[in-house]
Amino acid sequence: MELKICHLYPDVLNLYGDRGNILCMERRLRWRGIEVRTTGVSVGERLNAPDYDLFFVGGGQDFEQEVLLEDLHSGKDAEIRAAVADGKTFLAICGGYQMLGSYYKTWDGHQCDFIGALDLYTVGCKERMIGNYLFTCDELKGQTVVGFENHSGKTYLGGGVRPMGRVLSGRGNNGEDGMEGARYQNVFATYSHGCLLPKNPVLCDYILKTALSRRYGVVELAPLDDTLELDAHEYMARRLQNTK
Ligand code: GLN
Repeated sequence: MELKICHLYPDVLNLYGDRGNILCMERRLRWRGIEVRTTGVSVGERLNAPDYDLFFVGGGQDFEQEVLLEDLHSGKDAEIRAAVADGKTFLAICGGYQMLGSYYKTWDGHQCDFIGALDLYTVGCKERMIGNYLFTCDELKGQTVVGFENHSGKTYLGGGVRPMGRVLSGRGNNGEDGMEGARYQNVFATYSHGCLLPKNPVLCDYILKTALSRRYGVVELAPLDDTLELDAHEYMARRLQNTK
């Protein structure tokens, strides 16, 4: 088996080590003897979405999100929408999450019209939402996800999109409705930056399985020794639950 990963805008959207999520996916695949090839596609480069199984988009500052708009609307928008509709797997973080929605209106009045692959929109507020946080993941029963958020944007989901889970500590999508992230088709979108997948190996494998299963039919992943990762997860989850 092999998995082809597309890293969208790797040099523009990459905050807090978001790229580490790619390293984590690659490593966990190779440890199981599954081949993986990652290709970066950035500004000025053509995206041919059918070439890939899984797309990763990291976060970015308002400035960077505005900078890539012209490129996004020169063809990548339609490719991404088609890939989402076709059941390709996406992991989108923060600014990348916002990019999949309809628009992001920044707190100082700039309008970023995004691609509307998911029915959601984002409105910036002056006070940023920053910190380690903890949320549930509806599909991973009994599991929590530990993450780090830093955003001005408050995201609101439309009818066809469900959240990834509920915030247990922190702010999540907007600090108002208790929801975190978005799930639609095989898109996983979250505000959680940085080492999301290393700290949440169960979520990482779930996403990898989603992508592999679309290509190969039902796939089971051999278990790995996640003692260290799960210890890190538990430590952080306990700390966040105690500081609510
Ligand atoms: N610039 C966006 C915001 O502030 C996204 C931030 C991010 O990706 N960390 O909401």
